[in-house]
Amino acid sequence: MTPNIPKEQWAQVIETNGGPISYKQIPVQQPGPDQVLVNVKFSGVCHTDLHALNNDWPLPRKTPVVGGHEGAGVVVAKGSLVTSVNIGDNVGIKWLNSSCLNCSFCMQADESLCPYAELSGYTVDGSFQQYAVANAAHVARLPKDADLAAIAPILCAGLTVYKGLKESGARPGQMVAIVGAGGGLGNLAIQYAKAMGLHVVAIDGGSEKGEVCKKLGAASYVDFMTSKDLVKDVKTLSGAEGLGPHAVLLLAPQEKPFQQATDYVRSRGVVVCIGLPAHAKVSMPVFDTVVRMINVKGSYVGNRLDTAEALEFFNRGLIHAPYKVVGLSETQKVFDMMKENKIVGRYVLDMTR
Ligand SMILES: [Zn+2]
Ligand SMILES: [Zn+2]
Repeated sequence: MTPNIPKEQWAQVIETNGGPISYKQIPVQQPGPDQVLVNVKFSGVCHTDLHALNNDWPLPRKTPVVGGHEGAGVVVAKGSLVTSVNIGDNVGIKWLNSSCLNCSFCMQADESLCPYAELSGYTVDGSFQQYAVANAAHVARLPKDADLAAIAPILCAGLTVYKGLKESGARPGQMVAIVGAGGGLGNLAIQYAKAMGLHVVAIDGGSEKGEVCKKLGAASYVDFMTSKDLVKDVKTLSGAEGLGPHAVLLLAPQEKPFQQATDYVRSRGVVVCIGLPAHAKVSMPVFDTVVRMINVKGSYVGNRLDTAEALEFFNRGLIHAPYKVVGLSETQKVFDMMKENKIVGRYVLDMTR
């Protein structure tokens, strides 16, 4: 290790389920042979971090664990086997911290399905610390001049919605309905969809969210709070034939839209589940599913190429994720706002304060 790397650092550590998260000094780890040590500059706070804090997912979590999986920073040390990343490079720490690269999922670039995958801020220490280790093969490559605060939300939120749009199979010129379009993921999804040549029917509640969605490029907006017949409205707005959108992206944290999407998706359309409402079920009428050949599927983060592509849209100035910077020391406050559903856009932590 080079001498300017401290032995101790500030971190936000999950020690008790439900929090509060503890802000404390912990030792800086050394990178293993295939790892890099990243001096994290900024880290986004994702809703998944709150699930990690609450430990309310059916997925075992390590305790204690340093939270965070949208870390943008600079490589300051690397293991003996690392040749693809250099000290001084800007990199991103994602949810998928590492995977085995040898199983049949990894071999076909479905790394997020790897049974041996390690998850940042969940099964391994994440980006809510000043120095984080990550697997060199999996860190996102960020440009030299990247704005590390602005790019942080792309590492999970941006990647997730971009991958969902890819999984939908929708092609340029086709319609995609985005449910939960006014939220943080939805705002990014509208921009990615537009950049991919898709037309967007945005669905959310309230006129304020409608304004935001249209400003970001949605062709139309359906307000579920005032619409008398949401299914009909979505179909009508999806084109002259009124047959419904080619794809539906479900980003909402409620269950109801997951039941409703198959009613308005076009025959042969694809419904992509991304949001994770607690204990929710997807259900659909067998008859419609068969005779209208509807496809319902899940989409979960993305692989290394998806990451590079999602970042490329951002690097070309096509994606603007609204964010607010606060200090690492204020992480609990961000969680408190998240619990009260008060967050608009993304909160990004500055590791220096
Ligand atoms: Zn996330
Ligand atoms: Zn694997």
